[in-house]
Amino acid sequence: MHSGLKVSLVLKPAPADHGIQFRRTDLPGSPSICAHYNNVIDTFQATTIGAAGMAVSTVEHLMAALYGCGVDNVLVELNGPEAPIFDGSAGPYVKLIERACVVEQDGPRRYLSIREPVVVKDGDSSIIATPCDHFQVHYEIEFPHPRVGKQEYSWELKNGSFGREIAKARTFGFLKDVLRLQQMGLIRGGSLSNAVVFDENEVLNVNGFRYSDECVRHKILDFIGDLALTGVPVLGNFEVRKAGHTLHSRFLTKLMDGKDYAAHPPVVLPAAYISSGLSAIA
Ligand SMILES: [Zn+2]
Repeated sequence: MHSGLKVSLVLKPAPADHGIQFRRTDLPGSPSICAHYNNVIDTFQATTIGAAGMAVSTVEHLMAALYGCGVDNVLVELNGPEAPIFDGSAGPYVKLIERACVVEQDGPRRYLSIREPVVVKDGDSSIIATPCDHFQVHYEIEFPHPRVGKQEYSWELKNGSFGREIAKARTFGFLKDVLRLQQMGLIRGGSLSNAVVFDENEVLNVNGFRYSDECVRHKILDFIGDLALTGVPVLGNFEVRKAGHTLHSRFLTKLMDGKDYAAHPPVVLPAAYISSGLSAIA
């Protein structure tokens, strides 16, 4: 999407407690990096993780697909700096993951459970997390465009609901921003085949939307992908308003309070979290 480079990506099985790691096979020594909020180095237009001279950008759609399909442990090998965009959605990732099959592994599945409200705000953008015994997101957006306007959607993770309701929603952008972003070296691979694009009044894609509220569904997709950087499945209710990768990332930092749950389990949970009776972090 942003680099315009061709890339090959392989998802390889990994043992329990491995987590999600990205390996750059095109770099000397094939360095790898943990898909973890502490490793986020950029959130402008996409989420980029990096450390020690290597980076992988636009990880959010793959991360959302893995989260939505219940994959906790996988090694992602790729030979370039950016995960492939496919059609701008997580649909192709989900299809491939389902075809490959997801297996249950030995060992408890660790969850992060919200125990008390966690809030971040920036102007009229906000994210509020509250306790809930499952994972659900209510997202609200508002764009001053006749084909978008105000949209809201409530989604709960259960029995393939990610694949049915969220995965196929494509990223979107406005024609007026294209030149500016290209001058910044971004969206070099962007086209009508991997994004919904709007001019001043209309959708430019010949076939229009996949859902009438495709934009807000895609925002949920991005939120799930960014939240997946906690490194563990999360139980909570999330009310998100007009946010983006940058606020998602700020929220994660506050939510996790600098604790590295995924890399060093078990840990002592702060007051904000409980095990909720499930296989827990602590
Ligand atoms: Zn996206």
